[in-house]
Amino acid sequence: MECPICGSDELEILNSKDKSSKKKFIEEYLLKCDECGHVFKDVISAKKPKPYRLIISEQDKSHKTTIDLSPSDELKCGDILLSDLGQVEVTGIEIKDKRVTQAKLEDVNTIWASSIEIPARIGFSVDLHGEVDSYKLDLERDFEIAPGDIVKIDKHIVKVHVIKTQDRKLTSGFAKAGVIKRVYSKPVKFNNYDYDLTKDIVKKTS
Ligand SMILES: [Zn+2]
Repeated sequence: MECPICGSDELEILNSKDKSSKKKFIEEYLLKCDECGHVFKDVISAKKPKPYRLIISEQDKSHKTTIDLSPSDELKCGDILLSDLGQVEVTGIEIKDKRVTQAKLEDVNTIWASSIEIPARIGFSVDLHGEVDSYKLDLERDFEIAPGDIVKIDKHIVKVHVIKTQDRKLTSGFAKAGVIKRVYSKPVKFNNYDYDLTKDIVKKTS
C-alpha cells in the first residue's frame, strides 16, 4: 500500500473493516499518509485457500495428499510448504499438462515435492578383507559423519575412510547424512567409539 498523492508507504491505519466473502478475504483500510497527510481508502483482497493436489516423494515411494493454498499466491520450485506429512520442498509444478518451475497457484493442477523431514537413507560398508558387510541406515538428515570417525555398527567397531556423497568422494572434512550415498569403513581394534549406529540399521544387505 502506498499514498496515491506522494507515493510514500509510511502510512497510519486509521480504521480497518473486514469485508470478507465466502471466496475472498477482503480488508478495507482507511489510511493516512505520514508524509503529506492525505487520507484515503485501500482494499487488500486475497482468494481464500483451496486444496491443491500434492505428490510427495520419499525414498522410493510417493504419497498423494492435498494442501490448502490461496489461488492468489505464486509458487515456485524450491519453495518450502508445510504439508500434512511435514515440511516439503517444491520440486515440480504442473499447469495444463505442462511442467513449469514457477506459476500462479490459480493455474496449478498438481504440485510435486520431496519431503525434507524424513530421515536420509545411506549405505554403510564395512570392509572385512575380501568380504563386505553392507548396511542400510536411516539417519537424521543433518547428522554429520567425518572420515576418521570411530563408529560402532552391529558387531563391528570401524573407522570411516571414505564418504561418497551425491557428487564427490570425501577423505577429509565431513558430510551431512542428507547428501551421503555411502560410507566406507574398516574395522579397528578399539574398544571406544565416537557414536553407535546400530540402532539406525534398517537392513543388512550383504
Ligand atoms: Zn502522501
